[in-house]
Amino acid sequence: MKQAIVGYHQDEEQHWVAKLSCGHNQHVRHDPPWQNRLWVTTELGRTDKLGLLLNCVKCDEQAPPDWTSI
Ligand SMILES: [Zn+2]
Repeated sequence: MKQAIVGYHQDEEQHWVAKLSCGHNQHVRHDPPWQNRLWVTTELGRTDKLGLLLNCVKCDEQAPPDWTSI
């Protein structure tokens, strides 16, 4: 299911994690040449990608939310 990026945080290994509108987290690693997401390494790039739709596998699995907005 496609879900929009609504925010970001970093995990304990400093990898960037996107917060999706559905309440799930998804890693957005910059790990070339397999995953080329140079944009995630800069503040400007991350801001630019807010609203980008990512395919959320957790939604397809009906997994419980990773976070809840209050
Ligand atoms: Zn989801």
